[in-house]
Amino acid sequence: MSDIRTGRCLCGSVTLRIAVQGGGVSACHCSQCRRWTGGGPLYSIRADVLETTGEAAIASYRHSGWGERTFCGTCGTTLYWRMQGRPVAYVAPGLLDDQDGLTMESEIFVDQRAPWMQLVDGTSRTTEAEELAELEAFLEKEKADG
Ligand SMILES: [Zn+2]
Ligand SMILES: [Zn+2]
Repeated sequence: MSDIRTGRCLCGSVTLRIAVQGGGVSACHCSQCRRWTGGGPLYSIRADVLETTGEAAIASYRHSGWGERTFCGTCGTTLYWRMQGRPVAYVAPGLLDDQDGLTMESEIFVDQRAPWMQLVDGTSRTTEAEELAELEAFLEKEKADG
């Protein structure tokens, strides 16, 4: 069953409404996410449906051939990451008005994490090589499916 949650950026120019399955939060420890958040990792929650208001304030940055990082152009708040042109977004859970029921679930690019960053007990973990292999398999499958 999906759960509807609402949130907003720091200045309130952008609001969002998302549908999430479960309340699993993922942490990405890659060096790009670290720089983007200014500390890191990038915490995110998978949103199968994402509705936003304040489109004029929404800015995005394409840092690679596949990823897109979206933020509030007024206050700089991290909004979400997604694969370019895909509906599924990985939204920063810190934006959400109600954070009850969210739990840390997975950590990715764990071998890229800052030396001072501790892993959380009980999370599933993947390395950069594992993530890139999965991405490649996903892109291959998508190409094959047309
Ligand atoms: Zn803002
Ligand atoms: Zn990352």
